[in-house]
Amino acid sequence: MTHEFKTENPLVSVKKKIKTACKSLGETKEMYLHLSQPERMLEVSIPVKMDNGLTKTFKGYRVQHNGSAGPTKGGIRFHTDVQRDEVIALASWMTFKCGVMDLPYGGAKGGVKVDVSKLSVFELERLARGYIQAIAPIIGERRDIPAPDVNTNAQIMAWMVDEYSNLRGIGQTLFASFTGKPVEFGGSLARNEATGYGVAIMMKEFLEHKTINISDTTIAIQGFGNVGGYAGTYIQQFGGKIIAVSDAQCSLIDNDGLDMQKLHKYYHEHNTISGYDPKKEHDRDELFKVECDVLCPCALENAIRLDNAEDIKAKIIVEGANGPITSDAEAILNEKGVLIVPDILANAGGVIVSYFEWVQNLHNYYWSFEEVQIKQYQKMKEALYKMLAMMSEKQITMREACYMYSIRKLAKVVKLRGRCN
Ligand code: GLU
Repeated sequence: MTHEFKTENPLVSVKKKIKTACKSLGETKEMYLHLSQPERMLEVSIPVKMDNGLTKTFKGYRVQHNGSAGPTKGGIRFHTDVQRDEVIALASWMTFKCGVMDLPYGGAKGGVKVDVSKLSVFELERLARGYIQAIAPIIGERRDIPAPDVNTNAQIMAWMVDEYSNLRGIGQTLFASFTGKPVEFGGSLARNEATGYGVAIMMKEFLEHKTINISDTTIAIQGFGNVGGYAGTYIQQFGGKIIAVSDAQCSLIDNDGLDMQKLHKYYHEHNTISGYDPKKEHDRDELFKVECDVLCPCALENAIRLDNAEDIKAKIIVEGANGPITSDAEAILNEKGVLIVPDILANAGGVIVSYFEWVQNLHNYYWSFEEVQIKQYQKMKEALYKMLAMMSEKQITMREACYMYSIRKLAKVVKLRGRCN
């Protein structure tokens, strides 16, 4: 079966990065092959009874990339573009993201190819439950722990926990088998905000390292879902001026700054930023052309490509999405001297607080909102400074530093376990 990508296949891109890091670290070809292939992959078809009484079958995946360092961890996305190579790439990124953050996890990812806007809430619930029935044999609280990703949320996690607990049939609610749950149902405070908050932390800390005060900067955010929405809110709280945001419909541009709190509220009521202020509304892709200091791509893969990389005026990019820049676009940006804080560092807030949620579930002892955010802040700041040290020691980009740090650690474990030389 062939897989079509509008631009770059993200699996090809992540494999290149693994290869470069393995070479620089002097790892063997066998190690590269070991780390560039997923350990386990399940492709499923999910029959769902639709509201009209007819059955529709959806395609789904769960990929466990590498479990040498601990149980695998990663979200589940519901999206029309979901396909095999993309899920493998996303699972690999999770391995390296957990490595960069020193979390005791390997990486995984799941996805279902579906247009959620066409489903009723009951159909969505049946799809979520059907997907869990299909992947139940390979997940579990000490094995592989799913979480939300694009178009999935706390409610969907609640249905999944319920389904999985029923299937296991031991009369227990298995809270620790999923993260990103509703707070009333085993979730952690500050998990919903965590990815966006993390993007804001990374931006603030990286700017400080460059002796720039965030209050003196202008910022553009692409994507206004869970990541972009909260990133905007927290960046503004830290003093940054957001002059442009976009969603799937349009972009909003205002050089005097947009009010994130108002906009976030509007988005939740209307499910789009369109109509918020028609005078400020432009074409969606105008956002990339905006004169600003920092750009945050917070939507999907391959948003910044060969055809728009030259338009970018920002000097710093903080990646809220996974894989938002294609390799050829990255080469152009590097050439232009744009500094990139990469996805596996900048958007790790979600999985960090997922880890905290898992720990809280296993101990049945819950922390306050502030405690969680303080712990998240510390973890992200520590990781940033470790990567900065590696960057200056080896004279490499921050993305290369992240891969090298993560792969060096993982290769050690793989060797200790005797899985590769
Ligand atoms: N989906 C998020 C990510 O890409 C979070 C994964 C998790 O919490 O396990 O990092």
